[in-house]
Amino acid sequence: MTFGKEPLPGFPAPNSYLVFGTDTSILIDTGWENNDDHRSRMAYLRQTNSPPISEIIITHRHPDHGGGALHLHKEFGTPIACHEKDQEVIERDRLNSEIKIASSLNGGEVRDLGGINLELIHAPGHTFGCLAIYIPEREVLFTTDTVMDISTTSINPNDGSLVEYMQTLNLFQDINPRIMYTGHGRPVKNPRQRLNRLIDHRLRREESILNKLKVRPLSTAQLSDVIYKGLQSSRKPLAERQIITTLLKLLEEGKVVKEENDTYKTNL
Ligand SMILES: [Zn+2]
Ligand SMILES: [Zn+2]
Repeated sequence: MTFGKEPLPGFPAPNSYLVFGTDTSILIDTGWENNDDHRSRMAYLRQTNSPPISEIIITHRHPDHGGGALHLHKEFGTPIACHEKDQEVIERDRLNSEIKIASSLNGGEVRDLGGINLELIHAPGHTFGCLAIYIPEREVLFTTDTVMDISTTSINPNDGSLVEYMQTLNLFQDINPRIMYTGHGRPVKNPRQRLNRLIDHRLRREESILNKLKVRPLSTAQLSDVIYKGLQSSRKPLAERQIITTLLKLLEEGKVVKEENDTYKTNL
């Protein structure tokens, strides 16, 4: 089910998934927090024939994924789970410090819904505590914002890491799902091809940054201007954060160094 506003113009509203077996249901993500979306979610949940919801799993800390969780908890008393690395932010910003997370996850947990199992996987990168959820019986992987069909994934240096993101994409390749259900927009029906493209995209971006830095040292703003040429000014802060994220990976790998005047130069 998909409710509510688009996070960016032209970018689909967040997806929530009700997954159920013969015994129980689990809700993966709850969308935005507002009365209209809450009413839509309640109407949807009331008309399904699924078993009662035993748990709400919030895939990560962003407001478009766990925003409605507190509201639903107040209706049903359903316990809420998330990864421990996003827990503090989720409790403070999504649950308004009114309630605590009932299950702090590390990845590796399994939820038996009756006939199907949900394997909870730590899939960091988009955020430090991002979760993916795998149903082995169906070879279905819920990727949340880590993989989408309609766009690449933004990674902000304050809450995620490109190094971890690349490791997670490799992990998804090893899992080799049949289909991936994403955080926004359509499912991905050709996971292997999509994952290869996403890995390729990041490697090409790294290469173009390194090539620019081989010519002369540049600041993040200068890099952003040459890499994202002609970008609308409203999109510039997001673009610059993607540059910083990539530079942090290159710094960690020893491929670039930061100069005293906040410019970067290649170390290769
Ligand atoms: Zn997100
Ligand atoms: Zn999202």
